[in-house]
Amino acid sequence: MNVDHLIIGQGLAGSLLGWRLIQAGRRIVIIDPAKENASRIAGGLINPITGMRFVKNQNAEVCLSHAKRLYQDLESTFNTPFFLKKKLLRFFKNAEEKTAFNKRKNDPAYQPFFNHVTQDNTQIADFSCPFGAIEQHQTGQVLTARLLAQLQQFFINHNSYIKTQLHYSNLIVKNDSIQWRNISAQNIIFCEGYHGAQNPWFSWLPFQPAKGEILTLKSTISLPKEIISYGSWLIPEPESTFKIGATFDAKNIDCRPTVAGKNNLTRAFEKINPRLGSAELVAHRAQIRPCTLDKQPFIGYHPQHQRLFIFNGFGAKGCLEIPWYSLLFYKHLTTQSASIPSQANINRIYDSHFTG
Ligand SMILES: Cc1cc2nc3c(=O)[nH]c(=O)nc-3n(C[C@H](O)[C@H](O)[C@H](O)COP(=O)(O)OP(=O)(O)OC[C@H]3O[C@@H](n4cnc5c(N)ncnc54)[C@H](O)[C@@H]3O)c2cc1C
Repeated sequence: MNVDHLIIGQGLAGSLLGWRLIQAGRRIVIIDPAKENASRIAGGLINPITGMRFVKNQNAEVCLSHAKRLYQDLESTFNTPFFLKKKLLRFFKNAEEKTAFNKRKNDPAYQPFFNHVTQDNTQIADFSCPFGAIEQHQTGQVLTARLLAQLQQFFINHNSYIKTQLHYSNLIVKNDSIQWRNISAQNIIFCEGYHGAQNPWFSWLPFQPAKGEILTLKSTISLPKEIISYGSWLIPEPESTFKIGATFDAKNIDCRPTVAGKNNLTRAFEKINPRLGSAELVAHRAQIRPCTLDKQPFIGYHPQHQRLFIFNGFGAKGCLEIPWYSLLFYKHLTTQSASIPSQANINRIYDSHFTG
C-alpha cells in the first residue's frame, strides 16, 4: 500500500495533524497501540494566562482563534460537542498574587482576557475566596477523550488506522521512501508524546517529560459553573462530578497514580472548601506530558534523513497549541505555503547539536 504520510501516535498531536492531512486529500496511516495516553486523560483546559505572574501564552490570540475554529469544525462534522466554553475563576492564593494581577490588569494586551474582580472574603458556591478572584475570559474545556475516540473511528473508516506499537527496528528508511510492513510512505511523522525521548532519530532533542495526576470526584458540594483555578484547577462536570488536576512531577516518570499525588490535589482545594477531602473518588489517573527544556514544541525534520519528521513537545498546553501548529505544519508539508515558526522548529537545536 502506498501512502503519503505514516503518522506514529494517535494522541491529540497525531490526531489533529492526521485530520488536517486527510481534509487536504492526503493518504495517511496512523499507528497507535490504543492505550491510555496524556491526551485522553488531560483536563482539556484551555487557559492562555497562567503562572504566578499571570503571563500570556506566546501567540495566545492566534492559537485561541485556530483552536476554536478547529474544534467547532470537528463539532459540526461529527455533530458532537468537543469544546465547552467555560469561564475561569482564578482565586488569588495570597496578597502577592493579587498584586501581580493588579500590575497586569491595565496592560491593553491583557484586557480582552479579564473580566470583573470579586471582592475579598466572598463565597462562591461552597468555596471561600479570602483574597478575591478574577474572572477570566477566553477559557474552556476540550473533551479530549471523546474527540480522540471519534477521530479514531474516523481514521478506521478511512482505512487509515493500525492498532499496534511501532518497533523502530522494523522501519526501513530509504532515500526515496519509508517502508514499514507492506506500507510504503513518502515520509513518517513521529507524534509519540513523551515516548519521543526514546526515538533513536530524535532522542537528542531535550525532552523534559513531566508526570501529571488527575482525579475525578463526586460530591454534593455546590460547585460554581466556572472552572476554578487555585494553583491547581477544578473543572465542574455533569452529575455532581468534577475533575481536579494536575500534579507536575519531573522526577518520577511513570504512569502510576500515587497517594501523595491524590493528597496534594485534594489538600490544595480543602483550603477553600474543607468538605472536598471527603468527596467520593471516581477515578485517579496518571500520565506523562511531553514537556521540553525551552517549553517550546519540537517540529521539523531530521537533519540527516529528510523523510523523518517530528511533531511533538506540546507540554502542558496541547489543547491550545496543537490546532495552530498542526495548521502551519500540514500547510508546510502539503504546499510549503507556511513555514514552521522558528521558536518551534527543531533546527533551533540541531544547528548547535550537529554542527557543534
Ligand atoms: C494529568 C494531565 C493533565 C493535563 N491537562 C491538560 C489540560 O488541561 N490542558 C492541556 O492543554 N493539556 C493538558 N495536558 C497536556 C496534554 O495532555 C498534552 O499537551 C497533549 O495531550 C500531548 O499530546 P501528544 O499527542 O503529543 O501526546 P500523547 O497524548 O502522549 O500521545 C502520544 C501517542 O503516541 C503513541 N506512541 C508513542 N510511541 C509509539 C510507537 N512507537 N508506536 C505507536 N504509537 C506510539 C502513544 O501510545 C500515544 O497514544 C495534561 C497532561 C496530563 C498528563
